Amino acid sequence: MSKSIGFYCPHCGKRMHVTSRKRPSPLFNELIVSCQVSECLASFAATLEMVRPIHNSLNPNTEVEIGLPASKRQWEKELEHHLSSLETLPTIDEHQKTYIEGFISALFHSSTIDLTRAQTYRNRLQQIKLI
Ligand SMILES: [Zn+2]
Repeated sequence: MSKSIGFYCPHCGKRMHVTSRKRPSPLFNELIVSCQVSECLASFAATLEMVRPIHNSLNPNTEVEIGLPASKRQWEKELEHHLSSLETLPTIDEHQKTYIEGFISALFHSSTIDLTRAQTYRNRLQQIKLI
């Protein structure tokens, strides 16, 4: 039996059903969601991901502790957030620039982002004028 979940069909707006589920990591689910309306029958691949812990388990699974691709992506989001807020400013000071540079290097050295991405972020930083 498929389960109805809180995803709505983008075509007809009715609740979709999970018809298939894969779990490649403890934090990550890949779902196939299908519309059951006989005049529609759209289906999609969807992902369901736990992105960061709010409260740690009293009995943590070690596999979850080590396999944290989700938290790495969280760091990159953080960098993106800092960078885009600086981009809205006409000029930034040396301190702000050094901070973001350090952030980019840290993400690169921890293999959270690859060289191409690091370079893209550095280029964006270069575009912002210093005071
Ligand atoms: Zn539909």
